[in-house]
Amino acid sequence: MTDATSHVAQTDREVFELIDAEDRRQANTIRLIASENYASAAVREATASRFTNKYSEGYPGRRYYQGQEYTDAVENLACQRAKSLFGAEHANIQPYSGSPANLAIYYALLELGDTVLGMGLPFGGHLTHGYKVSFSGRFYDSHHYAVDEESERIDFDAVRKIAHEVRPKLMICGASAYPRTIDFEAFAEIAEEVDAVLLADIAHIAGLVAGGAHPSPIEVADVVSTTTHKTLRGPRGGLIMCRQEHAKAIDRAVFPALQGGPHMNAVAAAAVAFGEASTDEFKDYAAQIVKNAQALAEGLLSHGLRLVTGGTDNHLILVDLTPREIGGRDAALALEKAGVVVNSNSIPFDKRGPFDPSGVRIGTAAVTTRGMNEAAMTQIADFIGQALDNLDDDESLHEIAQDVQQFCSDYPLP
Ligand SMILES: *Cc1c(COP(=O)(O)O)cnc(C)c1O
Repeated sequence: MTDATSHVAQTDREVFELIDAEDRRQANTIRLIASENYASAAVREATASRFTNKYSEGYPGRRYYQGQEYTDAVENLACQRAKSLFGAEHANIQPYSGSPANLAIYYALLELGDTVLGMGLPFGGHLTHGYKVSFSGRFYDSHHYAVDEESERIDFDAVRKIAHEVRPKLMICGASAYPRTIDFEAFAEIAEEVDAVLLADIAHIAGLVAGGAHPSPIEVADVVSTTTHKTLRGPRGGLIMCRQEHAKAIDRAVFPALQGGPHMNAVAAAAVAFGEASTDEFKDYAAQIVKNAQALAEGLLSHGLRLVTGGTDNHLILVDLTPREIGGRDAALALEKAGVVVNSNSIPFDKRGPFDPSGVRIGTAAVTTRGMNEAAMTQIADFIGQALDNLDDDESLHEIAQDVQQFCSDYPLP
């Protein structure tokens, strides 16, 4: 039981038991979901602080309600820290999450029906990059680029070609399932050729960017959006950074156009996370995430698995299970029984449907936070290999889960 829930334990057994069970699940399983992490105790404390009680519509110095002495200070601090961490001209820390952040950017920079160009969802892009079931696909004329069928990497000749064809007003780079370095400069060059505003969505890799383990888009993109809770390891939330020329439009889009009162507890926690992310320890952390992903990739290859692009440059690995003749969903379910938590994921040019795609996505941000190193990654690759070899054997999967729990006990949660 954690300190933060001791009151829940007394007043609400039902919820307490769920919190406690989730704590144990997070401790006893190997968390390889690429978008997840473990926030520090300091971040969680700030999230649980009394800032959650405060209404603060508006921006520091321009609020609608009284009592903003400390909300102003903490929001200014969060934005100041975000700007210095990423080298940005302007920061808005109010978006409730990554998707609302992107919505605000569309709202600020586009008219309904304008043309946008993003990476296709089946190739690693995000729903909010113009996918048909998202607002971004419904309200805008959205087009997509893919990866090269052979290399499975972004094909800049193809991006250039489609950009010149559709002449997007907004071009989006960044992804949710792309295991390689994103060449922001190449995107910026194309955006400039077609007079598009460039949005770099670094939701997944923000921690790597902050820690110097992935190139930063800040100098070349007009707008940068991110979540605060993935590799960046903060509270759940969104952050928009932009050049000064877009600052007013972005701020107005977030509030009053799309949101009401910001979640000041999350803002305070984001300030804590940005402080943590500006330390040397965090640089080491970011570098270790990548080293671990590469070690895990090696381990998976040695178990005969095929990896999209053959490996990884970042925190993320996409395993293509096609050669194994198993579906991503069955694999993810079996892995969960074995205590290894991943998500099924489409692979480029997937021949299966999105509900049961051909791949699983794996990320190392969370396990690295627990202090696991390259040797631990080899062990994890072995667990995965064993589980996939025993897909239909619940008894074996259960035995692996026990080994996994034993393994996890050496790596306490923050
Ligand atoms: C996760 C993600 C988002 C959205 O974040 P939510 O907080 O889930 O709304 C946006 N863009 C990309 C590229 C992402 O990976």
